[in-house]
Amino acid sequence: MEIDPKVKAVCFDIDGTLVDDRYPSAQIHERFLGGNYILHLLGDMIQTSGHQDAHNALLAYTEVNVYWDYSDIIDHFNLDSFLVTEWIRLWHKNHLVALWRNVQLIHKLRNKGYKIYIISNNPHTGCLFKLEHTGLVDLDGNGVIDEIFGSNRGLGQKWDIGFWKRVIEQSPYPAEAMAMIGDNPVEDAEVPLAAGFCQSFLVDSEGKLQEAPQINVV
Ligand SMILES: [Mg+2]
Repeated sequence: MEIDPKVKAVCFDIDGTLVDDRYPSAQIHERFLGGNYILHLLGDMIQTSGHQDAHNALLAYTEVNVYWDYSDIIDHFNLDSFLVTEWIRLWHKNHLVALWRNVQLIHKLRNKGYKIYIISNNPHTGCLFKLEHTGLVDLDGNGVIDEIFGSNRGLGQKWDIGFWKRVIEQSPYPAEAMAMIGDNPVEDAEVPLAAGFCQSFLVDSEGKLQEAPQINVV
């Protein structure tokens, strides 16, 4: 793995890169609650709080508020923020596997002076829950990550080049000074390279990296 001298910020995917991807929680693809484990947990909690037909009410909320975050749902349904947050944290602790070699890579890169960004299909709070599990940040985002671009910041999902353009607009560095590291050849390589990223590296859970080919777009 050789990072181009132009690169100042190294950006990481979360699911399948920093934590295992058995539990999808993307924001827009899965418009049914069973496709997102945290939404399902929240639906159960809303039901427990006395709301009839909680899962359909939650689904309706996410359809109207397309760029929802878990914190918005907690507020909207008057859930006890402290209890719900602790419950979701505990769930992550019991179910998610951190991919430690890739987490370690972040520390190594940061020690070499690179800025570290997260670019993810998860909404911001979902990014924080997963990153907290890796020890990289706390739930307030304090830690070794410089910027987090989740679905409600890039307004979409990573398969869409528009998402990447919005992320680049908000980034302190231009696209040509950024490299992406992730596990998906399309979302973490083809599309960000087409959006102007300098490099992309595909990673597996053992921390082996392979540079993706530059895609020429006419
Ligand atoms: Mg991934």
